Amino acid sequence: MKFHHAALVCWLFFWIGLSAASSNAQTPEAGSGSSLSLANRLAPAGTQPQFQFHSGFWVNLHHFLYLQARIQSHELTRVGAAASNYSAQAVTLPANAPGAADWARAVDYYVKTFANRDLWVDLSMGMINDRLGEMDRCTDLSGKSSPTCASGLRPEMIDVLERAASVYRVQWWPAHDAKNRGWIAAQAPPVRQIGARLGEALSNAYRTPWPAEPIRVDLVYYASPFGSYTTLDPVHVMLSSEDASNQGPLGLELLFYEGSHAIGGSVEDVIVRECHTRGIPIPRDLWHALLFYTTAKMIGRVAPANADDDASVAVAHNYATGLNERGWQGYQRVLEVYWQDYLNGRTDFERALTALVANL
Ligand SMILES: [Zn+2]
Repeated sequence: MKFHHAALVCWLFFWIGLSAASSNAQTPEAGSGSSLSLANRLAPAGTQPQFQFHSGFWVNLHHFLYLQARIQSHELTRVGAAASNYSAQAVTLPANAPGAADWARAVDYYVKTFANRDLWVDLSMGMINDRLGEMDRCTDLSGKSSPTCASGLRPEMIDVLERAASVYRVQWWPAHDAKNRGWIAAQAPPVRQIGARLGEALSNAYRTPWPAEPIRVDLVYYASPFGSYTTLDPVHVMLSSEDASNQGPLGLELLFYEGSHAIGGSVEDVIVRECHTRGIPIPRDLWHALLFYTTAKMIGRVAPANADDDASVAVAHNYATGLNERGWQGYQRVLEVYWQDYLNGRTDFERALTALVANL
């Protein structure tokens, strides 16, 4: 039962600090139920990028059930080169396994309630996820253990998740949690190495300071057909630790691409305004494509040219591949011409975006 409890409250509160005091990568203790000492890992105040990484039980259960329901409903689970990451075969339990009925009921509930909804487009999906993130330290969602654990989610959903929790905790959570923690430990050094410069470069490009509060990042087994997504108000990044496309330098790049959603609103504002002025439809993905492109370009600029100690940092993403994978290749030309002019300092922010929209 000890493991039972430890896994339930498994909670990770891990700050990537940039202060000199935090020169060692901190690897969370597997299964640890308590927060790590934070005092020596707080970044100095300022506009340096900070992320707060979590491996949370409830958001992991929620996304894993969502994946199972998507598979069962024949909904898209992954696009692009990493499409084979996720088996089209749903996980199954022997019929006589403890909790098999509870698990099947949970998947059914997700099939009828969530399977056809987008994790990041649908506002209520974002709110559910934010709430489950806040429940990291709770052993239940109904408030049985403490009033702070009264999640306020729909009673049927609470019942489904609490029952499915005992199955997930035994069958899959230990492996998912270990993978999440491994991802965090692997990304901490490059974030510390180039995070401050990269955050500053992105902030300058978007003319918006990085948020003063660290951005919450939840690592999960499954995080949408793209392997990651971000919801706003509050900024909440979800990133798959399992996805083959999210490892090493690509993982670092995705992290900053997703984080950029917190500071790239200035770009979207101009795009929307220019589209209105011209009476043309707003291309929904243009903003995302621009953030993606810019992240790749800026990593290329700030990564050490000869990083023998951590060669992975020096590798910038081939943005063209990334744009293709997401179906955004149509924007490559205008980004390379008009937005790149701005990144090179040959024109200003407004002019670049106006020209970009005019030449779509
Ligand atoms: Zn995006």
